[in-house]
Amino acid sequence: MIPAEVLQMDQDDGLAHKRAAFDLPDNIVYLNGNSLGPLPSSVPARMQSLINDEWGGDLISSWNMHGWIDMPQQVGEKLAPLVGAAAGQVICCDSVSINLFKVLVAALQLRPDRSVVLSQTDNFPTDLYMAQGLESLLGSTRMQLRTVAEQELATSLDNDIAVLYLTQVNFRSGAMHDIASLTRAAHEHGALVIWDLSHSVGVVPLALDEWQVDFAVGCGYKFLNGGPGAPAFIYANASLHDQFQQPLQGWMGHENAFAFEPAYKPAKGMAQFLVGTPNILSLAALDTALDVFADVETTALHNKARALGELFVELVQKEPGLQELVLESPARSEDRGGQLAFSHPQAWSISRALHKEGVMVDYREPNILRFGFSPLILSFEEIWRATHILRKIVEEKAYDKPEFREKLAVT
Ligand SMILES: *Cc1c(COP(=O)(O)O)cnc(C)c1O
Repeated sequence: MIPAEVLQMDQDDGLAHKRAAFDLPDNIVYLNGNSLGPLPSSVPARMQSLINDEWGGDLISSWNMHGWIDMPQQVGEKLAPLVGAAAGQVICCDSVSINLFKVLVAALQLRPDRSVVLSQTDNFPTDLYMAQGLESLLGSTRMQLRTVAEQELATSLDNDIAVLYLTQVNFRSGAMHDIASLTRAAHEHGALVIWDLSHSVGVVPLALDEWQVDFAVGCGYKFLNGGPGAPAFIYANASLHDQFQQPLQGWMGHENAFAFEPAYKPAKGMAQFLVGTPNILSLAALDTALDVFADVETTALHNKARALGELFVELVQKEPGLQELVLESPARSEDRGGQLAFSHPQAWSISRALHKEGVMVDYREPNILRFGFSPLILSFEEIWRATHILRKIVEEKAYDKPEFREKLAVT
């Protein structure tokens, strides 16, 4: 029986009505909203009209007629309030990986007499890989990636650091950095900051302008629900707009793309971050997905994600049969983003067994079960149901079957 307190939490949930804005299959508890956000109900109609009327009907005229050419900026402006940015500082384009490269080089060039990029050993791999690639391209006298453990970041800041290069919410544990204090500390040492907000945007309150962040990037397909491979975004503080130069000099970032001049001249402001032709289909899906956030306070999103997570932890930790599941996330919900990690020696098989019972979760190497708490779609009752199913699977060792051991290409 579902406890009355849990039902009461759903009664009191100011975001409960948002579930209706999404198309989700029945009988699924979707704890993957942090990995691939669900489909907003309004997206299929937008895609249909974009494809049939705009692409199919108006063809190439659509670049002007339907404002396709302005979509990277327009969608960026729609996203800006979610990161606490005033107008003119956010643009949607490319993937997070590509955008990291752009802002990392831009930041490095603003600190020509420094070469160290300071990051965290367990930063998201693509963030580290892009920096490693840049280091081998430039040579380590010009750029050197230094990685330290999370607890050593603040004390590792010194006057050699060109850029502090971090992800706010750890993709595995959900541990959340204090952007304001680390940014301030980096600035005191003369370093610039780049924040990856992939696991933050759409679930935690952000105030990039107020925190005086230099550059940030983030993901469109996680908590923003922009669809598989949705365009990512870049934030660049207005104070840097006439100073930075990004290295991927594509024609869309030219001051006047349709002048077709042989020499590159960077566009002013955020437009310089464009490289090639924008992905209009994906931008339109993200644009429509963002409408769901129009009347939502980001503090309400984080409060609900925290409450869902707290209930999940409480229900797991009170079960004697679930003692083998070890919480790998910070204990206090204010120190976490919107997800939780638990380790278990059989994490992979458990994730597959949960999936078979309709509870969709992530597995992360080497032994992590990751549960994402998308505040727009989940009810407290579903958290209770998910932990109930988890308990049965673990207590009865229902995961211990060959079918749940088989590995998949994407986890
Ligand atoms: C999901 C994620 C990315 C994704 O990068 P893409 O290049 O867009 O695939 C990057 N960084 C972090 C921290 C992420 O969580």
